[in-house]
Amino acid sequence: MLRSAILAAARSSKIERLVGTAPLSRSVVRRYVAGETTADALAAARALAADGLLSTLDYLGEDTLDMAQAEFTRDEYLRLLQALKEEGLAETTEVSVKLSALGQDIDPEAAYRHASEICESAAKAETTVTVDMEDHTRTDSTLEILGRLRANFPDTGAVLQSYLRRTEDDCKDLSKEGSRVRLCKGAYKEPESVAYQGKLDVDRSYVRCINALMAGEGYPMLATHDPRLVEIGIDRAKWFDRDKDSFEFQMLYGIRPEEQLRLAAEGYRVRCYVPYGDQWYGYLMRRLAERPANVSFFARSLVSRK
Ligand SMILES: Cc1cc2nc3c(=O)[nH]c(=O)nc-3n(C[C@H](O)[C@H](O)[C@H](O)COP(=O)(O)OP(=O)(O)OC[C@H]3O[C@@H](n4cnc5c(N)ncnc54)[C@H](O)[C@@H]3O)c2cc1C
Repeated sequence: MLRSAILAAARSSKIERLVGTAPLSRSVVRRYVAGETTADALAAARALAADGLLSTLDYLGEDTLDMAQAEFTRDEYLRLLQALKEEGLAETTEVSVKLSALGQDIDPEAAYRHASEICESAAKAETTVTVDMEDHTRTDSTLEILGRLRANFPDTGAVLQSYLRRTEDDCKDLSKEGSRVRLCKGAYKEPESVAYQGKLDVDRSYVRCINALMAGEGYPMLATHDPRLVEIGIDRAKWFDRDKDSFEFQMLYGIRPEEQLRLAAEGYRVRCYVPYGDQWYGYLMRRLAERPANVSFFARSLVSRK
């Protein structure tokens, strides 16, 4: 119930205005977001690399209906990738992009072109791009664009969500040689017709998807903070005789950081997803929906005068 209410609020511009103008405690946003500027993102990537962690940087923004904004987002990624190259961070750091921030809802062709320019710049910097997955109304369009991007940039990463009933089949389709696939549970409010609603069903689907990806030829990227699923991932990698460098774990910035370090110390590849920028509202609301325990802290900070 609470999760649904928070996810509905994530789509409300009225609540966004209220939250955006409230004397929001910086620490709530700061817990999940690395900062507002390119320099903040680079500093986070540098610090993570020093701790033995990989990262993927996400310039926050989504659902844009303004082409100038979509172009601005593309340009920010181009600047970021240039900086990753110049600062010698490209080996440990890639980028994640949302097609809806690149104009997918206005003109999918333009979103494809923008994403393609970002992939080209990533290739020059010798790093990679992963295309985030958004709500189910965009799954087909996103996978179609991803397929076209992969024709020129085969290492472009896909994201699949285990809460969608279709995803086990998508995992099988995408688990080809060289195919980078991030598997997550899924963060949006989806109808029962397309998505499992219960945690147990979503988790079971996640395990079936791990099996499909680990059995395949691709490079699985297991994005979860769930301790049981991390253990199952380790177990299946052994079962399918995979080396530790043939897959990776991914977690979000600020969530279970000690677990990220523990896995890295055990020799696993661990990538931290690092969001930055001032468009943090939708991202923050999805994180709160995943952990309703944070909501009362957040609500207090909304009325705090600090
Ligand atoms: C690297 C990465 C990339 C992602 N990309 C996408 C994407 O492209 N599209 C998409 O739909 N979703 C994406 N997600 C979000 C994902 O779908 C889930 O919503 C999110 O990861 C929570 O699911 P979980 O697997 O961690 O399990 P959960 O069952 O939500 O959590 C398991 C445990 O993790 C801890 N935990 C989880 N969330 C929090 C939190 N917010 N604060 C503190 N502790 C927490 C708690 O201990 C909890 O018991 C991504 C997640 C990661 C890690």
